[in-house]
Amino acid sequence: MPELPEVEVVRRGLERWVAGRRIKAVSVPDPRSIRRHALGVEDFRGNLEGATVLSVVRRGKFLWMPLSDSATTVPSPEVALVAHLGMSGQLLVESPEQPHEKHLKVRLSLEARGDDPEELRFVDQRIFGGLFITSLVPTADGLPGGGIASTFTGGSSLGTTPWALVPEEAAHIGRDPLDPHFDLEALHLKLRSRKTGLKRALLDQSLVSGIGNIYADEALWAARMHYARPTDTMRRPDTERIIHAARDVMARALAAGGTSFDSLYVNVNGASGYFARSLNAYGREGDPCPRCGTKIRRDTFMNRSSYSCAVCQGRPRNARM
Ligand SMILES: [Zn+2]
Repeated sequence: MPELPEVEVVRRGLERWVAGRRIKAVSVPDPRSIRRHALGVEDFRGNLEGATVLSVVRRGKFLWMPLSDSATTVPSPEVALVAHLGMSGQLLVESPEQPHEKHLKVRLSLEARGDDPEELRFVDQRIFGGLFITSLVPTADGLPGGGIASTFTGGSSLGTTPWALVPEEAAHIGRDPLDPHFDLEALHLKLRSRKTGLKRALLDQSLVSGIGNIYADEALWAARMHYARPTDTMRRPDTERIIHAARDVMARALAAGGTSFDSLYVNVNGASGYFARSLNAYGREGDPCPRCGTKIRRDTFMNRSSYSCAVCQGRPRNARM
């Protein structure tokens, strides 16, 4: 499952190669990959052909491309193409001469622009991902739909869109820690008002998006907090510490994955493997904690695993799973 930094690498690649271009033609070799588009293949094609991709936006792991019928005016888009990567989905920017991948599902032909490749291909081995078109609705806070703080983009990317719009399927998703409009105070109040454990809250996409199992464990380790810490005992500096830790670990993953940014292959698998070598807790059962040398332990948690250091991340009283 790609995590937020991998999705951001994909977003940057799409922004570099696809944003601003008009879609000439669409083919769908495998309609299973657009099954979330309830109106079917013809409607999917009809919406895309002739439309221009205005930008590429991300909130958490939710990725979308606002579309417009006009590339010349500054329009307020009404619909967006959503790309759901699932377990194995890839978006590849290639020239039409490139042989088709075995698991090619959807192909968009783009209008020529300099030497840029003219096809965007969605390739998916396991069919959990897919593409669909959906309506954009106003954001609850009136701020842009998603984005990433300019400090993390290295100035290479626009990063945000001016539109306070979000796909209706993403309207309930909280902003992620890299979003410049992330509201730390609002999150803190929600944590205080809930009777749950900290890791469970971090994984709750309605509270804060984009933190999966790996980054939750890494952020908790960096912040020296136990995963079962009751959220109603969080003090304001505690909330700041865990969110800053999450932001930091994601930014470092992004820096590692960003090396593939200029590649024609917008490959979600490239970033995660590189970063795996620098994980401190996740997947490291029995290895010494890089801070204190205690063996990293693995506990079963929500049918998965939680990795932590028993010394650095002491178990709280009133632990809540
Ligand atoms: Zn330790």
